[in-house]
Amino acid sequence: MAGILLFEYQISAPRADFYNITPKVRDAIAKSGVANGIVVVYCPHTTAGITINENADPDVVRDLLLGLDKAFPDRAEFRHAEGNSAAHLKASAVGSSATIIVDKGKPILGTWQGIYFCEFDPPRERTFFVKVVGDGGV
Ligand code: ZN
Repeated sequence: MAGILLFEYQISAPRADFYNITPKVRDAIAKSGVANGIVVVYCPHTTAGITINENADPDVVRDLLLGLDKAFPDRAEFRHAEGNSAAHLKASAVGSSATIIVDKGKPILGTWQGIYFCEFDPPRERTFFVKVVGDGGV
């Protein structure tokens, strides 16, 4: 069975945080029936992003958020009238998508890796997309 399937998910993001969406990505792959291929996780927002990082120690996400705040502080020189340029900078720094190899119906992720939706301009109701491309293989 060939599969090229798109899944859309909603997420509530009440605070600036990294939200673990790994279970949703696994769910999309399972529903797609794709055994061998790739999965693309995509964020269609300009003040949020997608990244892969550690899912074991929650202090890592805390430190990532702190590091991004230090690297991209709000600045008086910013001109964007919406007032959220720091969030735009963070979103570009982490990027809008992640691509993961699918093998035997599962995403190839390291033991400590999780897939995160990164919210930088809360509170927001957000959307992300999961596209699974491949074949049924087995
Ligand atoms: Zn803006």
